[in-house]
Amino acid sequence: MLDARNVLLTSHARPDGDSLGSQLALAAALRRLGKQVRIINIDPAPALYAFLPDLEIIEIADSATDPCDAVVVLECSSLDRTGVSGLEERMIINIDHHAGNVMYGSLNWFDETACACAEQVSDLIDALGVELTEAMATHLYVAILTDTGSFRHANITARTFEICRRIATAGIDPARIAAEVYTNGSLGHVRLTGMLLDRMQLEYDRRIAVLRLHDTMLAEAECAADDIEGIVNLPLAVRDVRAVVFFKHTGTEVRVSVRSKAAVDVRQVAVSFGGGGHRNAAGFTIEHPTAETTRQVITRIATAIANSEQ
Ligand code: 5GP
Ligand code: MN
Repeated sequence: MLDARNVLLTSHARPDGDSLGSQLALAAALRRLGKQVRIINIDPAPALYAFLPDLEIIEIADSATDPCDAVVVLECSSLDRTGVSGLEERMIINIDHHAGNVMYGSLNWFDETACACAEQVSDLIDALGVELTEAMATHLYVAILTDTGSFRHANITARTFEICRRIATAGIDPARIAAEVYTNGSLGHVRLTGMLLDRMQLEYDRRIAVLRLHDTMLAEAECAADDIEGIVNLPLAVRDVRAVVFFKHTGTEVRVSVRSKAAVDVRQVAVSFGGGGHRNAAGFTIEHPTAETTRQVITRIATAIANSEQ
């Protein structure tokens, strides 16, 4: 990476806090080393992340045609997760922490023990000898805060807190960032949350919570389609609930998000439907949904719960 002059960064479609924070922090560090850096993503950042410093440098496009010396793909278990075409023949550096990474890069740095890709980026910035600025520290902190579910998921280790200590030393204000992420949302988001929880169904002896979203509900709640982050986690607050499945019906397809507690492995369920993710947070898309497929999703989650109890 030190030899490359022109570097392109990218990450997965429908970016989250980790993909945005990791890309922005690495871009800032590489620019400090005098490199030309572009970030190209297929989808814009959710409104929630509008406060991130330098967010405007991210270009939104579905292809990358200009020449560059290296492409750094962050947070993607496979190259097609980027949704960006024209990357295949490039010198690709794959940096990721998702189980099942298919090692598509010319260089692959896959670390399943990282709590967020931002942990890897933080180590990389260190190795490049670049000092953390407040903006870079903010990027990394938002990535770690959101990808760990506010420091609650598995994979949080002493290393996580060591990195956060360095981030805090760089001058960020954790309380202000938490306020931006958690108490600066829209009324529509809260209204939609109410509608979804009100209609929540429980399956498998109240161990699976099922949420269903239709476009009409978005309109009724006056909530933007990309303003639904975090809602899927809420049913986990119930003692008996072991997993949550959130079906988001849009047009002809259904995006499915699954969350779980402890040893319940929902990644395997997502993989069985062509998706992926982590043990406790995974997702996939059903292209041609039927009542039978959604039933099957719930059955496979029930099996994952049963397996975790053996
Ligand atoms: P979310 O439910 O928030 O969209 O995604 C949860 C986790 O699963 C994230 O780590 C995300 O990258 C991963 N994920 C979501 N959808 C897909 C998918 O279609 N394919 C793969 N490989 N991973 C996914
Ligand atoms: Mn991540």
